[in-house]
Amino acid sequence: MNVDLERLIALQQLDSAADTARRRLAEGPEREKALDARLETARQGVAAAKEHLTQSQHARRELEKEVAVHQGRLSKFRDTLMAVKTNVEYQAVQKEMAFAQGEVKSIEDKVLERMLEADDLTAVVKRAEAELAAEQKAVDADRRAMNAEQAEMQATIDRITGERGAVVGALDKQVLATFDLVSRKRNGVAVAEARDGICTICHVRLRPQVFNSVTRNDAIIQCDSCNRILYYVPKTEVQGSGFNVQGSGSAGSSPVDPAN
Ligand SMILES: [Zn+2]
Repeated sequence: MNVDLERLIALQQLDSAADTARRRLAEGPEREKALDARLETARQGVAAAKEHLTQSQHARRELEKEVAVHQGRLSKFRDTLMAVKTNVEYQAVQKEMAFAQGEVKSIEDKVLERMLEADDLTAVVKRAEAELAAEQKAVDADRRAMNAEQAEMQATIDRITGERGAVVGALDKQVLATFDLVSRKRNGVAVAEARDGICTICHVRLRPQVFNSVTRNDAIIQCDSCNRILYYVPKTEVQGSGFNVQGSGSAGSSPVDPAN
């Protein structure tokens, strides 16, 4: 294989891997925000449950005040009852007392309901607090994993910068200029595999004599359509040859090129 073409393939692998690492690094702030949002949602769950419980307790205290008012009236009625002179008065006070007692009974039932409700709402608060604790743990773990990955991405970029310098230094200047030009115009992907007569990135069919020359891998040949520098993977080498520009190193995913 043409030695410069070989270097270009290596250069493209490095650039694609660095690009993937840079994009992953750039997602950092957005991923941080998503982690914070998860915690915030769990915190809001606890706050809402506590607020619900507080409201229920407040309602219960109001009911207890009402009970006290009616009991105060009952106590006064008992005093009045001692002082009444006539049977009519006596019956009238008795009637008032019966009414007040009925009120006390009915409000006390409501107080009991509120007490049972408070038990349920306390359980809801505890559950929300447990969920928050679990989410805090999960988010902490995800944050540690993310920070480790971000550090690894930075290390990848630093390593690639060094390796790239060596490849670039060895490349023919004219070939490098072509690579740089196409890379700038084509979203960082300047090298493409030609397969079955087609440029695998822009998917345009190459002229037969162009494809024929590309299969020899002995010259720098550009795609007529996207201008990328073409190389060919001989059929026998397709599997397991470190030949594929797309499958670049540890950073993984193949370069996406909207500028086809
Ligand atoms: Zn092309």
